[in-house]
Parts: sequence; structure tokens; C-alpha cells
Amino acid sequence: MKAELPAVTLPGGRQIPALGLGTWHMGENGASAADEAASLRAGLDLGMTVIDTAEMYADGGAETVVGEAIKGRREEVFLVSKVLPYNASRAGTIAACEASLKRLGTDHIELYLLHWRGQHPLAETVEAFETLKAQGKIGAWGVSNFDGSDMRELLDVAEPARPIANQVLYNLARRGIEYDLLRWSQVQGIPIMAYSPLDEGRLIGHPVLEEIGRIHHASSAQVALAFLLTKPGVIAIPKSGSPERVRENYRAAEIRLTSEDMNLLDEAFPPPTRKQPLEMI
Ligand code: NDP
Repeated sequence: MKAELPAVTLPGGRQIPALGLGTWHMGENGASAADEAASLRAGLDLGMTVIDTAEMYADGGAETVVGEAIKGRREEVFLVSKVLPYNASRAGTIAACEASLKRLGTDHIELYLLHWRGQHPLAETVEAFETLKAQGKIGAWGVSNFDGSDMRELLDVAEPARPIANQVLYNLARRGIEYDLLRWSQVQGIPIMAYSPLDEGRLIGHPVLEEIGRIHHASSAQVALAFLLTKPGVIAIPKSGSPERVRENYRAAEIRLTSEDMNLLDEAFPPPTRKQPLEMI
């Protein structure tokens, strides 16, 4: 049976699947590059069409792997890349984007993010994003690792332009955003891209995830991803360099967690009861 991937609606109305593909650590080792590209293609075959990358990953090496993976099937892909904060000046953002486009082998990126907040004024980065948008080099822009106060400041600075996503650390072991940022983002209609949805692999084999997995004939990774898929407006972007594990992650969409499962998860991974500073990896 092929699982139906839930969708998230972006500001502007476009729908994208709530389960995508991460690429951090891809392109670091030439010997694994073919497997990495094959993993991304395995995900595309299943409709996991959101590919998340960044100029930072392997110093552009991950973007090169992505470029290889999407050759001949660019139209299927919703491509996300990121500018490093130290490059995010008015001119630097444009130069960084052009270098990313070259490595990706394409003439546009669907969503371009500021990787985290740095020393350049937000107004400058936003101006560059809007220029790139007007030039057709990016479809839309957003941010990453922005907490609620950063987001409110950004909305003020950017107005009338708006970010269409905020990519932050979110998984069962890091639920801080459930206290405020998640709800705020849902109300604003700004999707959250949940990075490190498997807590960089640390959630694999967790006894409570294994226990819930036994009921659903699922793995701990699938349960961790299924939890995120219950959250409206959240896109999870697990990374795997193995086509097999990408297919396993995809099948998380088949799992329907019950309220009993959710209670077990809340006991093992308590939701926040007070404001926590946004965690970052
Ligand atoms: P993830 O939580 O996605 O975990 C990735 C790790 O889990 C890898 O070691 C992978 O190994 C392993 N894994 C994946 N699937 C399975 C499975 N089914 N069973 C067992 N192990 C599995 O961590 P990431 O930090 O990579 O986060 C995902 C993506 O989010 C990144 O790749 C990147 O695109 C983005 N990101 C963004 C950040 C930001 O600041 N904006 C920061 C960090 C990440 P293997 O490859 O061998 O399968």
C-alpha cells in the first residue's frame, strides 16, 4: 500500500508534502555521494518532493549531490536552500544564491532561507530576498532558527513582504516550540519546517517508541515522524543516505497514532510547561 502523504499549505496557497528530505552531512564523502543521490531519488519516487539543503552543508557539497539527484526531474522538486548569516548582506545574499543555483544545476530555488540570525540587519537580507524573488531566482523566502521575538521583529521589518516558513529544531525530545512558537506560527499561517526530526538519530531505538511501534508494526523512526505528522502546519525533513531508510521514513505516513499512544509519548517526552529559549543544533 502506498501511503498518502499529508500536505501543508504555504502562504499563497501552494501545497507541499509534510514529509521531506534533509541533506545535512551529504556530500562530505565522495564515496557515499551516489548512495545519497539515490536516496533523494527514492524519496522523490514516493512523492517526498521537498528537498532541504544549504550552502553550509559540506561547503556546497550537499547542493552538488542534490543537483545530481534532481537531474532530469527538476519539475517534481520543491527545493529549499539557505544562505549563511555572514553572507546575508544585500550583495552577499544575491551572490550566495547564485553560487547555490550553480551547484544545484538549476535557475531557481522554490524557498530560500536565512540559516540563522547574524550580524547583517534583517532589512538588508529581506531586501536581497525580494530582489531575488523579482528576478525569478527564488520563489519565496523564509528563515531558520528564529524564535517568536525574532519572528515578530522580522514581520515588522519585512512588511508588506512575509516569510513563508521558519525552519527550527523540533522533535519529540525537543518540544520547546510547543509552548508558544508553534501555535503562533499556526495562527500566522507560517509553516514550521521541523529539522532533526529524529533528533539526529538519537530517537532511534527509544524504548517507548519501540513499544508504540510494536502495536503499529512500525519502527521507532516511523513513530517519531508520525508524531510530527499529527501537527498542523509542520513539515518534517528527516535525512537518510540510504534508500531503504528513506522508504521506511515515508511509511510513517501510514501510522495513525491513538490518544493512548500520544499519552505514552507525553509521559516519555513531556511537553514544555514554560517558555524555553529556542534550541539550535
Ligand atoms: P535527523 O533527525 O533527520 O537524523 C538523521 C540521522 O538519522 C542520520 O544519522 C540518519 O542516518 C539516521 N536515520 C534516518 N532515518 C533513519 C531510520 N529510518 N532508521 C535509522 N536511522 C535513520 O537529523 P538531521 O540533523 O540530518 O536533520 C534533518 C535535516 O534537517 C538535515 O539533514 C538538514 O537538511 C536540516 N537541518 C537544518 C538545520 C538548520 O539549522 N536549519 C540544522 C540541522 C538540520 P543514515 O543517513 O545513515 O540513514
